[in-house]
Amino acid sequence: MRLDPTAFSKGALQVVAHLQRSGFEAYVVGGAIRDLLLGKQPKDFDIATNAKPEEIKQCFRNARIIGRRFQIVHVRAGGEIIEVTTFRGHHDAGQSNKTAQAAQSGRLLRDNVYGTLEEDTFRRDLTINALYYNTTTHQLIDLLNGADDISAQLIRIIGKPVDRYTEDPVRMLRVVRFAARLGFDLEGDTEAAIGEARHLLADIPTARLFDEWLKLFMNGFSEPTFLLLSHFDLLSPLMGDNACITGSNEGACALQKKALKNTDQRVADGRSVTPAFLLAALYWPAAEHRSAALAAGGEAPIQAMHSAGQQIVLEACRRLTVPKRFSLAMRDIWDLQPRLERMQPKKVRDILARRWFRAAFDLLLLREQTNNMSTHCSEFWEHKQAQYPELVGSARGRSEKPAPRGRRRRRPANP
Ligand code: ATP
Ligand code: MG
Repeated sequence: MRLDPTAFSKGALQVVAHLQRSGFEAYVVGGAIRDLLLGKQPKDFDIATNAKPEEIKQCFRNARIIGRRFQIVHVRAGGEIIEVTTFRGHHDAGQSNKTAQAAQSGRLLRDNVYGTLEEDTFRRDLTINALYYNTTTHQLIDLLNGADDISAQLIRIIGKPVDRYTEDPVRMLRVVRFAARLGFDLEGDTEAAIGEARHLLADIPTARLFDEWLKLFMNGFSEPTFLLLSHFDLLSPLMGDNACITGSNEGACALQKKALKNTDQRVADGRSVTPAFLLAALYWPAAEHRSAALAAGGEAPIQAMHSAGQQIVLEACRRLTVPKRFSLAMRDIWDLQPRLERMQPKKVRDILARRWFRAAFDLLLLREQTNNMSTHCSEFWEHKQAQYPELVGSARGRSEKPAPRGRRRRRPANP
């Protein structure tokens, strides 16, 4: 099968040609070929070769070996960074090569055993990702009928699904990511094994889970991804129970869905998206619920929201290492909710200037749209934004703002 040569990036063609000229095998592999067969523009071009990382490095003037779990080489070519990987081999127990290390649980900790193209094929995750294309001879190598699965719109794990999920539980999240993004179905065994393996996600480092969260939720398909994760009971292992809202809480479900839809729409429109807003919206029902409980226990509303925010972020971080810049933003977005509701004239300018004001206002809109709240409050802030457009978001983060000098704390009124 001949793919349009102009669909490949210049850098990818150069890297393949150069490796081949140096006597190695080299192919464009994985997602790029899958996307081209689907008639989509690939977002990047990965290369697989039988050259070892050191050999790849020697072929190019500008190349860097990175990674531990998987050693890969980043080659700068044609103004891009091209990821080049050496074919992976088998890593059976008892194999003398010690570079593949498995934890007792069967999880693969390192995977730097090198092999042939055929062995590499079986190390990949999905049949639709195990396609190799020689851009010089225009030959497609498809040992596992990935092209047929693309035509049948099927996500099929390579090998025995339970074993492959055990080796790397993140593959379950990848299965869902591709199913949601491509609108494909899961092949029967690929689906059935999730039930047996989902508990293994508990062992995955929370930093890796956050990286995967970004790929799942910031790619323009967050809504179908969220629904599918929820369908396969993978949401709780990924985000904890605080993100899992039951169907009986219709308002909260609707708020989460709208936030996801808006995020996807922004990506489709080429506008920027921040993980902080989506995280704040997805965990909002839990934060609101916690805040109400604290308020019922006697805390003042603003303090209750603040404490609830701290608690929910802490709990979320047990599953996802949310970087501080995002978790502080989430808490600011939540802290602003009761303040927006108060509409205190004296505070208007300060509140408008807050760095996360726009995001907080967007969350307020979602709350109004999904909880039968009156639109009185958002109308008030809409009006204020029109009145002082230059103030909106003009202050840096609260913590970055220098404390006003010489202002004395107001004494509390006489008891
Ligand atoms: P995308 O378009 O999202 O980049 P992709 O298929 O290129 O999709 P990557 O995450 O870039 O996905 O991975 C590149 C290739 O590496 C995949 O196509 C797959 O063959 C292989 N791969 C990635 N992660 C794993 C994994 N956890 N287990 C096995 N193979 C993997
Ligand atoms: Mg890729």
